[in-house]
Parts: sequence; C-alpha cells; structure tokens
Amino acid sequence: MLVEPYLIRARRILPVVALSALALVPAGCSNGGPPAYDGGPVRVVCTTTLVADLVNRVGGERVQVDALMGPGVDPHRYLPTAGDRAKLDAAHLVVFNGLHLEGKMTDVFEKGRDRYRAVAVTRDLDRSLLRPADTDGGEYDPHVWFDVALWAKCLPVVRDELAKLDPAGAEVYARNADAYAKELAALDAEVRAAADKLPPARRVLVTSHDAFGYFGRAYGFEVHGLQGVSTASETGTPDRQRLARLLGEKKVPAVFTETSVPDDGLRAVLDTALKDFGQRVTLVGGDDALYSDALGPPGSPGATYPGMVRHNATTIVRALAP
Ligand SMILES: [Zn+2]
Repeated sequence: MLVEPYLIRARRILPVVALSALALVPAGCSNGGPPAYDGGPVRVVCTTTLVADLVNRVGGERVQVDALMGPGVDPHRYLPTAGDRAKLDAAHLVVFNGLHLEGKMTDVFEKGRDRYRAVAVTRDLDRSLLRPADTDGGEYDPHVWFDVALWAKCLPVVRDELAKLDPAGAEVYARNADAYAKELAALDAEVRAAADKLPPARRVLVTSHDAFGYFGRAYGFEVHGLQGVSTASETGTPDRQRLARLLGEKKVPAVFTETSVPDDGLRAVLDTALKDFGQRVTLVGGDDALYSDALGPPGSPGATYPGMVRHNATTIVRALAP
C-alpha cells in the first residue's frame, strides 16, 4: 500500500550485508534527493505513455513531460536503462501507474524513495473499486484506464502533487483537471452507448493478455485473456485449449491482438479453435490491434487516451457485431 507522502526519507530496511557494502561508498556519491523546484516548467518523468498523457492534460504548458516507455512498449516486462535512471534523477516529480503494472521497475521506486519524489496515479483509488489479481506480485489488476470513469478518479492525485510542487500553478492545474474530468465523463457515456449496440451474447472479448477486466466490468463484456493480468505470466497448451474451447462454445467471431504484446500465442489458439472445435475466428490485428498498455505513436488513432479509447471501442463493436 502506498502511503502519503510517498516520499519517505531514511527508511532503513536494507539487510546488514547491503549496509556494509554501502559504507564503502564515499559520502559524496550519495544522492541528496530530487532537485528542488525553483520556477520554470516542472520536469515530470512518467513511466507509461498513458500516465504521461494524464499528466500532460493536467499540467498543460507548466510541465515538461517525458515518458520512459514509448508507444507500443509493454510495461510489465520493462527494465529501466541507464538513461532512464539519469532522467529519473533529474525529475522534479516522477509519476507512475502503480498496482505493480511496472513489475520490473517496482524495485527502482522501492529502493529510490530517498532519491525521487514519486507518486502513483492509482495511489488514492478506493481499493474496493479495484479488481483483485494475485499474479506477478500484484494484489490488484493494474489496468484501471480501461474503465474511463475510474481513470478520471486518478486526476486529483496528479493535480494535487503538481500544485504542491508549483503552488503558483494550482489554479491552472485545478481548471485543467476539471475540464478533463468533464471530457472523460462524456467519453465514458460514448463507450457505453457504443457497447450497447451489441447484443449481450456477442459481448465476449478475447485478447492476448488479461488487460480488459475493467473494460468488461464497466461496459458489460465477458473478458478472457490468453495470458494473465501480467504478460510476464507463462502460457502453455492447456491455456490455449481452454481458450479455443471457449471460442467454440460461445461461437466467438473475433479475437483481438494488442499493440504491446506479440500475437503468436493467439494465432495458435485460433488454429486449435478451427481444428478441434470447428470455429472459424477472425484475428483482429495490424492497424486494428487494440491499444492495451501503451498509447500509439504520434499521428495514430491511439496517440492520446481519448483516441485510444475510441479506437478500441469502435474496433471491438465492429468486429463482434452480428
Ligand atoms: Zn497489461
């Protein structure tokens, strides 16, 4: 559980061996914490493109936002580079998704509590609103952005953390957050209206990994992934058989690849669905692949969060329609 304030100093939980190793490091090498903010653009380093998009919408021209993971990059498996660490060191504020989305980077934030002023956008979400997911070290499903109304609840923490650093911008941050919340409320209604065009029996969404649970809960879909909530989970023949059987039983017409996950596993499932269960299933991919854990490159339909949500909703409804 992330606590307020996230920046906790001098937390000594290092084992004795690590402490004695630290004692050998000259004092001058130690990092004195994040750089102090003294006017100008607030330098914010984010992990995913989705988080960067949220911070940009709230921060507007007062922030300079950099995302460590580019378009199409899988956050579950991402390992920070030396360049990333330099960016993190230079940031006034580090913003990440949390809930163990950035599985391999958790260590960086855990051990870097003295170095970074880091905050998770999901920090203040009421845990009763989260889907459980006991996998890859995470307690909850981290893919909260698939429920547009839930993603909107991540706005206040960004607004407040920016205002704490840059009080002169507090009004701007509050205004931007309010405006974006209204836009997201309209977007949420738009997705609901699109989903409502599909008969309930057609609302079965099958994707490469189990990222769309919040989407299913919010907009009335039964959701299945070949892989679990994290792409770091392994799949085998039983998983493919299970999914192929489901496609046959439910007569699912199409399954969806994701821009940040390879599609070879799903292809094998479709072969089995046809061979063993007589169900011919379309693989929706290429330009129509769903954006799951990353936005698209600039100029693509999924370059922004609202664009990504619209692309996904339209693609899903079109491919599953009778
Ligand atoms: Zn994911």
